[in-house]
Amino acid sequence: MRVLVTGGAGFIGSHFVRRLLGDGCPELAADRVVVLDKLTYAGNRANLAPVADDPRLEFVRGDICDAPLVGRLTHGADLVVHFAAESHVDRSITDASAFVTTNVLGTHTLLRAAADTGGVRFVHVSTDEVYGSIEEGSWTEDHPLEPNSPYAASKASSDLLALAFHRTHGVDVRVTRCSNNYGPYQHPEKAVPLFTTQLIDGLPVPLYGDGGNRRDWLHVDDHCRGIALVAAAGRPGEVYNIGGGTELTNRRLVDHLLELTGRDASWVRAVQDRAAHDRRYSVDITKISRELGYAPLVPFDDGLAATVRWYRENRSWWEPLKTAVPA
Ligand code: NAD
Repeated sequence: MRVLVTGGAGFIGSHFVRRLLGDGCPELAADRVVVLDKLTYAGNRANLAPVADDPRLEFVRGDICDAPLVGRLTHGADLVVHFAAESHVDRSITDASAFVTTNVLGTHTLLRAAADTGGVRFVHVSTDEVYGSIEEGSWTEDHPLEPNSPYAASKASSDLLALAFHRTHGVDVRVTRCSNNYGPYQHPEKAVPLFTTQLIDGLPVPLYGDGGNRRDWLHVDDHCRGIALVAAAGRPGEVYNIGGGTELTNRRLVDHLLELTGRDASWVRAVQDRAAHDRRYSVDITKISRELGYAPLVPFDDGLAATVRWYRENRSWWEPLKTAVPA
């Protein structure tokens, strides 16, 4: 199978590519993997270093908004797995223009290319943030989309466009909506690597508001396994939630990280809450479990401990990124 992975130099996309070229996705049997990535501040060739010499991998630096390039690459693919996005909520609050360009227009460019090519399977990687915020219970896939941040709104737009291209143009689109990912190679602007690297260095960690916002935590390896299942055996035009099964307040997450780094609560600084900060996310994963046999396999305590260990052992990976992004 020939696979085009957009955003394959980012956190989750690169994990997917490493898995695809390792033995992590037998159901997809990839004999050729093309990564299309613009290498924004969030993209990093070093994330693909473990598979850089694999003859099946081709890296193309380019923009998903570049229609001729996207058309050529899509034409040579059996499967597109679309990760490329502007992904940081805080940045979307400061300025959402790049989010609209990449997440909405870029996704449209890819969908257009898939429609023109025909016969391409298209997995669109979306997020649980498109649902908004939920006080109790969990979202099933048919819940209305009520995004609050500009990031989530841009993802909801692309998510709906993808489903519209299935209905209107018959593109074999499958949408995944996952919860908060954690794991190695995540940019240190995001909560887990930011807090971990701050604490490793004996620096304070910022905690939004009262720390009571709740998130479901999903190890990136479980997420990528779920995506592979959807790509291989999901149904066209369907949406699949992917969750990790560990719900924590941000305060509790920080407690875990304090313990793993041997620091105490005096390192935590309360900061003003994020505007329109969603209180709680929770996805119902019954559909993907029943249809595709998905269940998260990485126990949270083990996954988080391994993640903290990875940041301890890979300072040379994150230090240059942190100097470019003030905490
Ligand atoms: P990331 O920010 O780490 O990586 C994004 C990648 O996309 C980078 O390599 C970047 O260079 C590339 N990119 C950005 N704009 C591009 C463009 N115009 N053309 C080509 N490449 C471009 O993001 P991530 O955390 O790996 O997230 C991957 C996907 O998963 C995103 O679509 C995101 O919305 C979704 N998602 C992430 C999470 C999470 O917890 N990280 C949760 C839910 C959904």
